[in-house]
Amino acid sequence: MTTKSYAVIGAGPSGLAVMRALQKAGIDATGYEASHDVGGLWDITNPRSTMYSSAHLISSRTTTEFTEFPMDSDVDYPGHRVLKRYFDDYADEFGLRDRFRFGTRVDRLERDNGDSNATGTGTGTGTGTGWILHATVQDEDGAHTALVERYDGVILANGTLAEPNVPAFPGEFAGEIMHTSAYKDPAQLAGRRVLIIGAGNSGCDIAVDAVHHAESVDLSVRRGYYFVPRYLFGRPSDTLNQGRPLPARIKQAIDSRVLRAFTGDPVRFGFPRPDYRIYESHPIVNTLVLNHLGQGDLRIRADVERFDHDTVHFRDGTAGDYDLVLLATGYALDYPFVDREHLNWTGASPRLFLNVFPPSFNGLYMMGMIEASGIGWQGRYEQAELIAAYLAAEDADPARAARFRDRVTTQSWPDLTGGYRYLGLARMSYYVNKDAYRRAVRTEQAALAETTTPAGSGRRGA
Ligand SMILES: Cc1cc2nc3c(=O)[nH]c(=O)nc-3n(C[C@H](O)[C@H](O)[C@H](O)COP(=O)(O)OP(=O)(O)OC[C@H]3O[C@@H](n4cnc5c(N)ncnc54)[C@H](O)[C@@H]3O)c2cc1C
Repeated sequence: MTTKSYAVIGAGPSGLAVMRALQKAGIDATGYEASHDVGGLWDITNPRSTMYSSAHLISSRTTTEFTEFPMDSDVDYPGHRVLKRYFDDYADEFGLRDRFRFGTRVDRLERDNGDSNATGTGTGTGTGTGWILHATVQDEDGAHTALVERYDGVILANGTLAEPNVPAFPGEFAGEIMHTSAYKDPAQLAGRRVLIIGAGNSGCDIAVDAVHHAESVDLSVRRGYYFVPRYLFGRPSDTLNQGRPLPARIKQAIDSRVLRAFTGDPVRFGFPRPDYRIYESHPIVNTLVLNHLGQGDLRIRADVERFDHDTVHFRDGTAGDYDLVLLATGYALDYPFVDREHLNWTGASPRLFLNVFPPSFNGLYMMGMIEASGIGWQGRYEQAELIAAYLAAEDADPARAARFRDRVTTQSWPDLTGGYRYLGLARMSYYVNKDAYRRAVRTEQAALAETTTPAGSGRRGA
C-alpha cells in the first residue's frame, strides 16, 4: 500500500476502470459516486444518465469490453440494460463496490493550504500539495450531510456526456424544446410533430424511434455525415482491420469507397455533402435512418434560422410547424467542482498530457476525457493503468516519476490525431485517434512500470 491517499470521482466505466487499475497496483482509493450504484450513464436510473430506452452500444461488444472481463453475452451490440449488468458484474468480480461511497456528490475541490479541518480517511502528508474534497452525502430518507476529506490526489471520472450543449436560436418557440439528455422513452414523442436538430449518433437513434411513434419527423442538419453500417461483410464493421491500422489517407480512401458501395451516397436522401473527409468527425453508426429516409418516413431539413411561434424557419428558406423540438446538439465538458485553471482549460477543453495529466502535476488526474472511434472501455482502462503506474512510481521510484514529469513539461507531446485533420469543433477538441492514443499511452505506461516494480516487492497484483 502507498502512504498517500487518493479519491476517485464517479463509478461509471472510467471510475470502475481506474479503481481496478489502482487495486491491481496495490494503491488504495476512496470512490465518490453521486448516484446509488455503479454503471455511470449506462444505469438509466442514475439521475445524470443520458441513456434512453432504445439505446444500444454503437461500438461492438468485443471492441468495447474490458479485455480481462469479457461480456457474458453473444450479442454484437447489446442494449443499455445488458451493459448495466456488465458493470455490476465487473464491480462484484473485483470487489470494487466497497471502495465507493454512493449517494455522495463531490461539490468542490480546493487546494490544501495546510489549515483545513478535513477529517479525512486521507493519511496525506499535508504538505500543501493535496486537495480538500467537499461532498454532500444523501441518505435513504433524502437528508443531506456535508463531508470534508483531504487527499493527496484526486482522479476525475465524472463523465463527458452529461452536461447538455444548448445552442441559442433567434425567436420564440411555442411548443416544447427538449435536449436529448431528457429523452428517455419514445412515449415522449407519441403523436407529436417532431423536429430533431442534429444528426449525431443520439439524434439518428432518436429519429428512428420517432419514426415509429411521432406524427411526423424532420431532422435538421448543418453539415453532411458519414454513415457506417453496423455490419460489413457479415461482421461488426469495427472488428474489420483490427490491429493493423492503415495510414490515414489510405484508410479514408478505402473506407469511403466501401461505404459508397454499401450505404450509397447520403446526399441522395437530402443530406448536404460532407465538407470534410471520413473520420475527421465522429462517424454515425446507423443506416436505419437512411432506410427510413428512403421510405419517406422522415425528412432532412436545413440548418435552423429562427423560431416563430410553432413554426421553424430554415436557412434554405423553407419552414415547418412542430410541437416538439429535440436538441440533439451534444454535450459540453463540465468539471464544475474545480476551478478551470487547475485543469489547464484551453478553449473548449482542458489541455492535459495524453488527456490525463495537467502539466502542472497538481495531484489531479483525468479519466475518460477522450472521444475516439473504437477506443472502448479497454482504452479507458489503459488510461487507468497509466495513472496507476505514475502513482506507483511516485511512491516507489520518485526519480522515475520525476523523469516522466520532466518529459511532459519539457518535450513536445505526441501527436494523437493519427494523421487525421479533425474538424475544429468544441466536441472534437479532445478527440483522439484510438491507435495513436493507445500506442502513446502504452509507451508511457511501459516506461513508468519498468523499474517501479522491483522483483519480489509484492507491490503489484490484486
Ligand atoms: C447513448 C449513448 C451511447 C453510447 N455508446 C457508446 C458505445 O457504443 N461505445 C463507447 O465506448 N461509448 C459509448 N458511449 C459513451 C459513454 O460515455 C462511455 O461508454 C462511458 O459511459 C463513459 O464512462 P465514464 O465513466 O467516463 O462516464 P459516465 O458513464 O458518464 O459516468 C460518470 C459517473 O460520475 C458520476 N458523477 C458525476 N459527477 C459527480 C460528482 N460531482 N460527484 C460524484 N459522482 C459524480 C455520475 O453519476 C456517473 O455515475 C455512449 C454514450 C451514450 C450517451
